[in-house]
Amino acid sequence: MIPVVALVGRPNVGKSTLFNRLTRTRDALVADFPGLTRDRKYGRAFLAGYEFIVVDTGGIDGTEEGIETKMAEQSLAAIEEADVVLFMTDARAGLTAADLAIAQHLRSRDKVTFVVANKVDGIDADSACGEFWSLGLGEVYQMAAAQGRGVTNMIDYALTPYAEAMGIVRQLDEEGEQVEREYTEEEAEAEQTRLQSLPIKLAIIGKPNVGKSTLINRILGEERVVVYDEPGTTRDSIYIPMSREGREYVLIDTAGVRRRSKVHEVIEKFSVIKTLKAVEDANVVLLVIDAREGIAEQDLGLLGFALNAGRALVIAVNKWDGIDQAVKDRVKSELDRRLGFIDFARIHFISALHGTGVGHLYESIEEAYDSATRRVSTSMLTRIMQMSQDDHQPPLVNGRRVKLKYAHAGGYNPPIVVVHGNQVSKLPDSYKRYMMNYFRRSLKVVGTPIQLRFHEGA
Ligand code: GDP
Ligand code: GDP
Repeated sequence: MIPVVALVGRPNVGKSTLFNRLTRTRDALVADFPGLTRDRKYGRAFLAGYEFIVVDTGGIDGTEEGIETKMAEQSLAAIEEADVVLFMTDARAGLTAADLAIAQHLRSRDKVTFVVANKVDGIDADSACGEFWSLGLGEVYQMAAAQGRGVTNMIDYALTPYAEAMGIVRQLDEEGEQVEREYTEEEAEAEQTRLQSLPIKLAIIGKPNVGKSTLINRILGEERVVVYDEPGTTRDSIYIPMSREGREYVLIDTAGVRRRSKVHEVIEKFSVIKTLKAVEDANVVLLVIDAREGIAEQDLGLLGFALNAGRALVIAVNKWDGIDQAVKDRVKSELDRRLGFIDFARIHFISALHGTGVGHLYESIEEAYDSATRRVSTSMLTRIMQMSQDDHQPPLVNGRRVKLKYAHAGGYNPPIVVVHGNQVSKLPDSYKRYMMNYFRRSLKVVGTPIQLRFHEGA
């Protein structure tokens, strides 16, 4: 239930400046995975206690006839799919014809819209902003995105009513560590049993035409499926419950397979926002790639979202039928080169069309889910931490040896291990990586990223 916030406005009003500011902390996360270019249009943000998806819709310049002619289809779709629109204007430039055209469009779509007058730094803001009231969209919020002034307030204003209506609670901090409890051995085991009886929410994502629908039909054809025909809106994925060999699943169908079968529904277009929401809501993401197309930027963009969300991940390289060995070799070396940095995810070569390899996907999906959600007791984590320290002493920092004291779980899906000790924040990255790999090996974590956090003191 992650809110989607769209930034709308003509060029040069400061949309990308605001976008960068909102997504900055998240950028750092993606940067941990070298080789991933970030999609500058979609980002995850955390501000004012809310996590949300922010979309920069690009600009229109107002000289065009109808708004649709200039606003790319994707941008219009983003507005449709957004929960909240931030309509940005330039307080220095004043009201323009393009602003009026955009306002008219937003009013006609009946979108929850907040007018933002940006660039109020160094000008008489109140008098500069007055004219934006005539857009007919209510209050005008003053902001200086470049300085970060008014940004948190704006998000607070814009998201709180939505969050309250949707029952989304404000988090104290992004990491949400304080909500995690510690487990004894027995509690961890009991929780594990319970978790394995819950359905695995599996999002099947991929760019258009990679074979998502074919794969879903293949899966549904082979398994006993109980489909409940929820009405749902076009902006949402379809949730399809199924069970297989004693495990419960909910397939999150971003391709709209089920809906296509209904007479009155048109075939939906691919939607990035729908995919992002599906990723947020899933335990495990199955990323489908088309072997015949190689790895495209869009594949990497979607992959970036799965990584950024910390989701367990399985990769299916589809259409592995009817291609010759040379092509297969080329695809494999490209996977190595471009996806080699994701060392945790299992890769399967499948043919959704013929069903080849599809059955083996479940093993990896279940393994990834179990790894991602497994509760581990504080004593076990502390023991592993101790072993890693015994095998390989932490280095000296300022002439003193870094001392690790204890470790406990800080979250699941992805698993987070919090390590307490003296000077731990000064540990070099190489040692942090060593520890991370040590935890990964010791806990047999497969198919999910794992995070390590360090806290000073006990
Ligand atoms: P976009 O085309 O809407 O994405 O606009 P940009 O974010 O690229 O910003 C256009 C220009 O406005 C850039 O030169 C920014 O540095 C500048 N700008 C953005 N926000 C502010 C602000 O709050 N104050 C001032 N003075 N300039 C800003
Ligand atoms: P989606 O847009 O990701 O849902 O893709 P579709 O499932 O609609 O598939 C797009 C096209 O690829 C269709 O023509 C499928 O028949 C074809 N296709 C899907 N999977 C395979 C496969 O494993 N092998 C081959 N050769 N074609 C496939």
